Amino acid sequence: MDFITVYFLVISALLGACAGSFLNCFAWRIVHGESVMKGRSHCDECGHVLGVRDLIPIVSYLASGGKCRYCGAKLSKRHLGAEIVSALVFLSIAWKYGISLETLEFWLLGSALLACSFADLEAYLVPDRFIVFAIIVRAVFIAVSPEPLEALKTSLIGGFSVAAAVLLVVIVMEKVLKKDAMGGGDIKLIFVIGLYLGWERNLLCLMMSALFGVVAGMISLKKKNDEEAEAFPWGPSIACAAWVTALFGSEIISWYLQFFTTVR
Ligand SMILES: [Zn+2]
Repeated sequence: MDFITVYFLVISALLGACAGSFLNCFAWRIVHGESVMKGRSHCDECGHVLGVRDLIPIVSYLASGGKCRYCGAKLSKRHLGAEIVSALVFLSIAWKYGISLETLEFWLLGSALLACSFADLEAYLVPDRFIVFAIIVRAVFIAVSPEPLEALKTSLIGGFSVAAAVLLVVIVMEKVLKKDAMGGGDIKLIFVIGLYLGWERNLLCLMMSALFGVVAGMISLKKKNDEEAEAFPWGPSIACAAWVTALFGSEIISWYLQFFTTVR
């Protein structure tokens, strides 16, 4: 690896950590009905406004031992988790796609999905504004692509085909089970991921998200009591599946399809 590549990857990870810190705060303010633009970052416990020293991703958390510097309240580990996961997302995308427009596009999609995941973990909802943001970003990239019409077609088929199928299954299941099978926010996530990845990879993403969801569900069932177990955020599993699919989807699909090609 040459110097430029290493430098780019380091910058990507730092950018990701900063994005994670910002997105986590942004998502928290939205689900708690606080103004996004107004008000400086403050401690949730004592309300003390945070200084520059407190806002350095990862470093601030570790330096303060995971406590507020002013009142000593323990900070949620989710802050640290959000920053580390976001750094990994940005880094892995940069590693896969290099210095390219695709990297920028997936960083922006990743940011939207991370924000949706943080909101879902915090309040079991997927805010529409993050979905709208991702749709607008995709529209801009389609407009500047070499073949906009072809890209638009692939994108729309990718979004609608899988999301419509899921919606149909959910409607049938809700009729049969007479209870909510899946949140509307989750279907919007599947739709928006399809716009970026096309229908083949979106289908892979859907299957993988079901697998991740079951595993995450079993882990959280062990931890929580029965009341809390009723509500389960599926958004992070979908976002995680989209991450793996964006990185390795094409390879996984061609590996799978080789079993169906006849040997001449
Ligand atoms: Zn405090």
